[in-house]
Amino acid sequence: MIFAANLKCNHTRESFKSYADALNKALKNKDEEIFVFPPNVAFLKEDLKFTQGTQNFYPCFKGAFTGEIGKEHLDEFGIKCVLIGHSERRILDNEALIKAKFDFAKEQNYTIFFCIGEDLKTKNLGNSKDFLKKQLEAIDLNYEKLIIAYEPIYSIGTGISADKEDISDILETLSVLTKAKLLYGGSVNENNIKEIQTIKHCSGVLIGSAALKIENFIKLIKG
Ligand code: PEP
Repeated sequence: MIFAANLKCNHTRESFKSYADALNKALKNKDEEIFVFPPNVAFLKEDLKFTQGTQNFYPCFKGAFTGEIGKEHLDEFGIKCVLIGHSERRILDNEALIKAKFDFAKEQNYTIFFCIGEDLKTKNLGNSKDFLKKQLEAIDLNYEKLIIAYEPIYSIGTGISADKEDISDILETLSVLTKAKLLYGGSVNENNIKEIQTIKHCSGVLIGSAALKIENFIKLIKG
């Protein structure tokens, strides 16, 4: 099972250092299935027992892109894992930029967590699957380091995950389109994680709020 923590715009380098120390201690050995996405300014250079990924990057090595970070900056921290298409970034990134990020990350052989998700209106209109398929149109679904996170927007940050049946139905559809590992994200917490993990085709979870405190993230990992 993959456990990925998206810390969003939370944690400083100092607080993330404590977070990472506690997680390293809890993991003992390197665990290929644990991922944490801290804010870029909190990246750590040390050996970690989990994979440190970036929540965002610009598809460039370096250059005149004010405010962005490129591959050179990720290299400095050994980062080879990226999050693309999160609904909070889709407000800022258009389809062309999302595709450029995907293509660049693929060229660099990065592990890509590609997020997709529909809003409640789309779901209520019965258009979820068409919408999600469209979000996947521009990317290579056969890329071997691709992980797809299904994160319905109507569930993110609400404390209430999507219905098990809905998650199951969407993951089933996605599993026909790709061999990529499929995750669920959207208000995963200690009350629902066990049930979510039993869903067919679910290879793990992407967690926001419930992973902000390291003791909570460790509890979710350890079950
Ligand atoms: C997310 O935004 O990726 C997420 C899963 O957040 P939360 O767990 O807080 O819904």
